[in-house]
Amino acid sequence: MKIHEYQAKEFFRKYNIPTPKEKLITNLDEVDLALSELNFPIVAKAQVLVGGRGKAGGVQFCQTPEELKEAVKRILSMTIKNLAVKKLLLAEAVKYEKEFYLGITIDRERRAPVLIASAAGGMDIEEIALRHPEQIVITELSPFLRLKSYKAREVGNVLFSDKELVNKFIEIAAKLTNIFFDYECNLVEINPLVLADRELVAVDAKIVFDDNGLYRHPELEALRDLDAEEKSELLAKQADLSYVKLTGHVGCIVNGAGLAMATMDLIKKYGAEPANFLDIGGSSSPQKMREAMRIILMDKNVRGILVNIFGGITRCDDVAQGLLWALKEEEIKVPIVARLTGTNELEARMLLENSPIVFARTMTEGVKKIVELTRS
Ligand code: GDP
Ligand code: MN
Repeated sequence: MKIHEYQAKEFFRKYNIPTPKEKLITNLDEVDLALSELNFPIVAKAQVLVGGRGKAGGVQFCQTPEELKEAVKRILSMTIKNLAVKKLLLAEAVKYEKEFYLGITIDRERRAPVLIASAAGGMDIEEIALRHPEQIVITELSPFLRLKSYKAREVGNVLFSDKELVNKFIEIAAKLTNIFFDYECNLVEINPLVLADRELVAVDAKIVFDDNGLYRHPELEALRDLDAEEKSELLAKQADLSYVKLTGHVGCIVNGAGLAMATMDLIKKYGAEPANFLDIGGSSSPQKMREAMRIILMDKNVRGILVNIFGGITRCDDVAQGLLWALKEEEIKVPIVARLTGTNELEARMLLENSPIVFARTMTEGVKKIVELTRS
């Protein structure tokens, strides 16, 4: 789960990472009040959960109240990558000498959390990696020991020649590490971390929480921005289905995560791309199947649906009932291939006898058929 810059900055303040003076506003009328607390120059920053807001014009520097009001009006009427800007962060602009990058994430190849730092801040880290790979310093962290101070010092010594600044860097890196582990994050990032008047200040802030750890931090749920989330994934969560939207054309409804993965692999093997991962779970009901169909049909990329069920506790006739229900209520224009095997397989077949569903006896046959039917 991603949170906005202004929310991430609140975590920074709680952990005493220096941030600029800021006020969040949601409309033009709030500018005057904000101005009673902020000094010019001021940066107005769109709060949207997508990258590249700066390039889209969502970050503007203003010298006067008139300029600021113009910028606020303009940014609040903007849509950046399909998301309407509803909130603006007004920040006292920091006059700085140099920009740095500091981030913590999980490095899957190293199988470890890593702290990444660079003296080439301001750009995306991907861009730094491309243009100045020699300027990136990476050090591994431990979930138990977190950031050992000698490691932080090694990194600090690469970025700063001044001992006092190295110490300040170590402090900030340690605090950022604590946020990362305390809240089980996927990413915490300061870009840029700026050097201004012998202080290090976090001018931007990004935090992404690991969804799998959220149940341990129920208070974070209140920070969720529903606008930024895939509607179908939200519906799936409510229906207790594991669903991940992907970009291919073959919709998949499968029971069991392992079988769902294997189905996706097979679809790729036969030359197509899955439109989603969807596991209806072990003990399914017609209702779950009905919901699964509703969710898959929301995706306009879907050219056909493969239902792959290995009936154990899941009864094939329950699945068939759900399919019939969906066929009755939705106008389905795409082909459906079903491979239903196991518990109550015959009952399922009888239920679907007069439906437009194409049957397959094996998984491979089902995949081949749906790939054939969805070929453009
Ligand atoms: P992003 O485009 O979403 O990463 O938004 P940032 O908050 O990082 O702002 C984009 C860029 O604007 C930064 O990399 C800085 O170069 C500049 N910027 C942002 N805030 C300030 C500030 O307070 N002072 C100065 N001088 N530049 C800033
Ligand atoms: Mn930034």
